[in-house]
Amino acid sequence: MQSLIIVFNAGSSSLKFSVYRMDDLKINLQGEVENFVTKPNLWLKSESKKKYIEKNLFPETSKVVWTVLEEINKASKGHKIAVIAHRVVHGGKLYKQPTLINAEVLDNLRELIPLAPLHQPYNLDVIEASMEAYNNIPQVAYFDTSFHRSQSYLAELFPLPLKYANEGIIRYGFHGLSYQYISSKLPHYAEEKAHKRVIVAHLGNGASLCAMKNLKSVSTSMGFTALDGLMMGTRPGNIDPGIILYLVNERGYSIEGVQDLLYEKSGLKGVSGISNDMRALLKSNDPNAEIAIELFCYIAAKHISSLLPSIQGLDVLVFTAGIGENCPQIRSHICSYFSWLGLRVDDKLNRKNTSKISAHNSKIEVYVIPTNEEAIMAEEAAKLISH
Ligand code: ADP
Repeated sequence: MQSLIIVFNAGSSSLKFSVYRMDDLKINLQGEVENFVTKPNLWLKSESKKKYIEKNLFPETSKVVWTVLEEINKASKGHKIAVIAHRVVHGGKLYKQPTLINAEVLDNLRELIPLAPLHQPYNLDVIEASMEAYNNIPQVAYFDTSFHRSQSYLAELFPLPLKYANEGIIRYGFHGLSYQYISSKLPHYAEEKAHKRVIVAHLGNGASLCAMKNLKSVSTSMGFTALDGLMMGTRPGNIDPGIILYLVNERGYSIEGVQDLLYEKSGLKGVSGISNDMRALLKSNDPNAEIAIELFCYIAAKHISSLLPSIQGLDVLVFTAGIGENCPQIRSHICSYFSWLGLRVDDKLNRKNTSKISAHNSKIEVYVIPTNEEAIMAEEAAKLISH
């Protein structure tokens, strides 16, 4: 009989899950519920990579989660589910570590919903349903904000009256599980340089940067919410806050209208007028697609520069997530802004998406490392249970 770890990764429109074996941390089963809220459709595949279940479900979170657990149970007959790990976007100031979930923890996490309205409610609904189904199995929350709690007081502070910081308006930072995964793997790639001055660029639909020293977060580009920092798929990243005041005061925008503009209608999608999908933009001949791509790279480079003082230089740059892992053009474009620092990319290696893409004479090493938020949760859960 094997002990298993279920990892749930709930987004605003999908619920991904993986089942790991505790002894070797290999994946037994994997699946996803797409269109989680409107028209949930479940697929599940086993080790042999064959899809063997695909079905439509009733759009109610608890029923969706119970069906997923039932299917996992059927497919894992004879094995024991030892722990269920949940990805939670916001842990606030309080949760700096993975946390065993109970009613009090759930209440505290609910209070953070206004800080992450697009993700936190789904994360918590999934946890609740899963706890109803299995109240005898430990369930643990892994937070996207925790990794950044090693930031200094200054790095967390916005230049507002200090009472706001005391009330919790600080730079929380996000994508922490991705950064934790990269920091755990970087020593295999960059050996001793991994512990020096590192910037990781997580470039996916959501995009952010993390500057690290000794593999710990020193500063990050996302802030109080996941709207800050880099230009993203549909979010603009950091913009002049005066624009929002102008839109509301002079152009009659409602708060909902501004929210929609900032979360859904800006970034690559807004600038190009075509898509938030980098693949579509790279294929397009539309001049606005080119402007969107150039702006994406320029802003990424600008923000990389803005993190340099916090780590006093740069030894290693890492690209990860959908765009970072798969788009040589974007990587070389961003890197070209740092040729004055002696950063050189080897075009051949870059085109092949190999793990080290810097040229041998580059003063800064550049890596492409696929991220895996679920794997780091499984690793941590295995450690937690075996202690
Ligand atoms: P998220 O997890 O934030 O939804 P991902 O990390 O999956 O985002 O990244 C999505 C982005 O990565 C999209 O812009 C997509 O176009 C891009 N992407 C994914 N795969 C590829 C690929 N093979 N080539 C180019 N771009 C890719």
